[in-house]
Amino acid sequence: MVKVFILGAGDGGKAVLSRLLRFNWFEIVGVADLNPDAPAIHLARAANLPIFLEDPLYLLQSMSIDLVFDLTGNPVIRHQLIQISENNFDVATGEVAHVLWDVIRELEDRESRIKQRLGENQILLEVSMILSRSETPEEIFQGIVAGAMRITGMPAGSLSVYNKHNHELFLVATKGLSSEFYKNGSYPVRQGGLTEHILSNKDPILIPDLSNFPAFDNPVVLKEGIRSLIAIPLIADKGPIGILYSDAFEPRRFPASLITSLKMLATQAVIAIQKQQAFEKIKDLSIRDPLTGLYNRRYLNKVLSSEIGRALRLNRSLSLILLDIDKFKRINDQYGHVKGDHVLQALAECFELMIRPYDILSRFGGEEFLILMSETDEHKAIASAERLRTAAAKLDLLPDGSQVTCSFGVCTLGRIEKESISPKEFIECADQALYRAKNAGRNRVCTYGN
Ligand code: GH3
Ligand code: MG
Ligand code: MG
Repeated sequence: MVKVFILGAGDGGKAVLSRLLRFNWFEIVGVADLNPDAPAIHLARAANLPIFLEDPLYLLQSMSIDLVFDLTGNPVIRHQLIQISENNFDVATGEVAHVLWDVIRELEDRESRIKQRLGENQILLEVSMILSRSETPEEIFQGIVAGAMRITGMPAGSLSVYNKHNHELFLVATKGLSSEFYKNGSYPVRQGGLTEHILSNKDPILIPDLSNFPAFDNPVVLKEGIRSLIAIPLIADKGPIGILYSDAFEPRRFPASLITSLKMLATQAVIAIQKQQAFEKIKDLSIRDPLTGLYNRRYLNKVLSSEIGRALRLNRSLSLILLDIDKFKRINDQYGHVKGDHVLQALAECFELMIRPYDILSRFGGEEFLILMSETDEHKAIASAERLRTAAAKLDLLPDGSQVTCSFGVCTLGRIEKESISPKEFIECADQALYRAKNAGRNRVCTYGN
């Protein structure tokens, strides 16, 4: 410990004393001034330090002291001090105190920066472990938002994923925000707006006080009471994939070191989101037909099983349309397989556009399609099949201008006189109806039953 004596308890003395008191490597062995009301005397009293209200110069020779701060500003005292100090102690003035203070402050700052970085790195490590363990998209998105909130020490946050096809952001996770905020599920990226700026920026954007940004006028954010925010663009190799926000309800100051940690978090978030998206794509591939992009037979069987159960339980109508391209073999033979594939794709697209969003269209076999229509009675199913039949015949698909027609078999659950029915049996009934349509001359709609 450095033993320090402070001579002169005015404002300068107070400034030095208050700073020295913060460090435990200084022992204050005395504070002296002739004025009992001097600011540093009050401070010394409050800190229980020895106080000298008389001229202490004679005392200093007999005390064990390393350093005397002369803050009297008096050249006579200064002169006397230097004379008596000999080799017993050093004498420093106010300017030295300031230099010393700057050095200490620098050390202190460095220490707190290191501590902050260590804390941030610890959080980053934990976040990366959480993300690597997460399996569902919800867990991953929530984990990313929670990670940003922990690193920034802010009480709220959200994550939006960017859809490059419609140029919109879709909110996938929020924490610490109201349900009102969540209601605005997706929002477009306005040209010249803040969101576009964030996405085109590679670095996080830190806004300590939104009221200093009159250009920022997002009503949802302002209504939520958000006063400061950090926006972290999530950029993959192929372009932006989202924005991660951290929010606080009062103005904040952000340490400069935060940027590095936020960029590291952004990298982790991008990897986690891409991994999740790839996983979803693989899952999707396993239920889709690669040629047409429609659902495959396996998926339809699965859905059909639960839809039959639901319709029987709740006494709802349920219909199937099975359709088969007429004389498709001839198209292949005449124009080749590639042309045949194009016909399949074009018909799939046409049917997809014409059905209702909640109807399920699948490629059931080579040139057979199966459509599952819930809440649909026979009458409506026949009408739908007729619309599809007419539309298909109107498409201009072959080089010779000839029509491509389809035959349709319609079967409605109520037609089958059985208590319960398996998906396979239900489809067989639709197939019987299709068989009738083929036998009756093709390019027509037939129903199961009478
Ligand atoms: P029908 O009117 O009785 O249905 O006659 P069709 O010629 O359509 O029926 P058939 O079952 O004899 O022939 C179906 C053809 O569909 C045979 C097969 O080569 C072709 N096919 C099945 N899958 C594909 C495919 O993915 N691409 C192409 N180009 N052809 C396919
Ligand atoms: Mg056919
Ligand atoms: Mg066939």
